[in-house]
Amino acid sequence: MLRTLIQTGLLGRCPGCAQRSMFEGFYDIPITCTNCELQYQVGDGAWLGAVAIGYGFGAIFAILAAVVEMTWSPIRNAGLDPLWTIAVASLVVTAVGYRLAKSLWFSLLYTFGLMRWPDGTASSPAERATTL
Ligand SMILES: [Zn+2]
Repeated sequence: MLRTLIQTGLLGRCPGCAQRSMFEGFYDIPITCTNCELQYQVGDGAWLGAVAIGYGFGAIFAILAAVVEMTWSPIRNAGLDPLWTIAVASLVVTAVGYRLAKSLWFSLLYTFGLMRWPDGTASSPAERATTL
């Protein structure tokens, strides 16, 4: 399970087969995997978890940046406004981190059996093993 999360979640690969990228473009996820036909669509609101994780990355970055700024003042020393610099940088981190958040989230959905194979069986690796 941890191996699945690391291999597919961090690399953005399909959690079902790990053979191809889960993404079409930078953020978009297709309805099914073209290789193993795992169905990525798990119902309305499933993307909310990914958004939450993405904002989490932004928030963690903002906190770390604030601590670094309060300790060493690198932003103020560079002649920039610390508050605005951290705010803008956090948005960038959130936007870039959203892709990672999305692949991590969909790997979790897969691991907990919330995705479906084309025959309707749940996506959990353990269940898959018993049906094959
Ligand atoms: Zn696949």
